[in-house]
Amino acid sequence: MKVFKFGGASVKNADAIRNMCNIINNYSKDKLVVVISAMGKTTNALEAVIAAKLNNRNFEEDIEAIHNYHRKICLELFEANDHIFTTIAAVFNDLRHELNQDFNYNQLYDQVVSKGELISTKIIAAYLNKKNCHTEWLDAREYIRTDNNFREGRVDWRLTEELIRHDIAQKAEENILVTQGFIGRSKNNFTITLGREGSDFTAAIFGYCLSADSVTVWKDVPGILNADPKVIPDAILFDELPYKEAAEMTYYGASVIHPKTIKPLANKGIPLHVRSFDQPDKPGTIIHDCKLETLPPTIIIKNEQCLVSFKVIDYTFINEENLSLIFKSLSEIDMKINIMQNSAISFSIVVDYEFNKVERLLDSLKSHFEIRYNTGLKLITVKNYAQEILNKYRTDQRILLEQISRNNYRALIAP
Ligand code: ASP
Ligand code: MG
Repeated sequence: MKVFKFGGASVKNADAIRNMCNIINNYSKDKLVVVISAMGKTTNALEAVIAAKLNNRNFEEDIEAIHNYHRKICLELFEANDHIFTTIAAVFNDLRHELNQDFNYNQLYDQVVSKGELISTKIIAAYLNKKNCHTEWLDAREYIRTDNNFREGRVDWRLTEELIRHDIAQKAEENILVTQGFIGRSKNNFTITLGREGSDFTAAIFGYCLSADSVTVWKDVPGILNADPKVIPDAILFDELPYKEAAEMTYYGASVIHPKTIKPLANKGIPLHVRSFDQPDKPGTIIHDCKLETLPPTIIIKNEQCLVSFKVIDYTFINEENLSLIFKSLSEIDMKINIMQNSAISFSIVVDYEFNKVERLLDSLKSHFEIRYNTGLKLITVKNYAQEILNKYRTDQRILLEQISRNNYRALIAP
């Protein structure tokens, strides 16, 4: 059994979808579970619909634009009278219905953004069948079960494994199985999401629960490189990487795979391939149990960073008591600290600037601290650094915060 994952870029238009279906076709002799994200930038567009609703703006035009984007793709892939158009319209009607419900913010978010994956997989499963690639569409929510922590559902591994094992292997004997990344079902029976970019994690969950032979993430890059080739032209492609090294890279912000993906696969020794959907005959990078003699310096850049500084209001210092208030709020809002630093009277953290989260953090702590924040920052990490690289990064940049340890250099840079 193999698990494939295709992200938004690999299904962003009709040509991309045709290319993806060719790749799947080449593996149609295998037992295959294919996990797919929302098309292109659909998740961002659905976030904008929620923002419009929260600001009491009309969102009907935004919904129509998302519908048209998918309709246009379908017109290139199907006859104009194909049933797919009715199927997709029904999902958009569900979406409108959800937007009229009286849900709390996070719950509404998940009911709305999850529609992107439902639509993309319905289109792709129908297209594969039309191309005589026998495909069954599966609702990932019937398998991936979580707690009630909307926007970052925590997986109930025991139940999820039981449900996946129950019938997937059998179904995969007969058809290629196509399902959604990123979504699951909560304990209280609502759709839940697993955190932005979480489709890789879904692929890892299926891989783990099925004890798959391998999981492959198909990307718009040739594999895992030691730097972004758009920034550093002589970036090196890793043929292989140990699980631990790859996991650390994702922690520092290597966006090529979601941070939660490696652990379940490493636990069972399942190899993770990162391959290019533009060059499907190239092997890409394999993440597995291996040892590398030397690790080249790896440069990881995380954009859209936000520096939040908390200053104590009275003449006390930053201490464990006020730190615990900050950490409690961060954990309640599910915000992860990328780097932190303190002085006598202030504590600074750097976090991803996620939709509506910083605002909630400010709200929950404003009576205890004077809080400032800057957005649009860049966090650079050089793993296994060499002095020349450091010299390069420490000049010509406006550094707001810097940390150096024996192996890693990290700096927060202003635009
Ligand atoms: N569509 C979701 C997102 O854009 C999940 C994913 O792409 O992995 O965050
Ligand atoms: Mg995506």
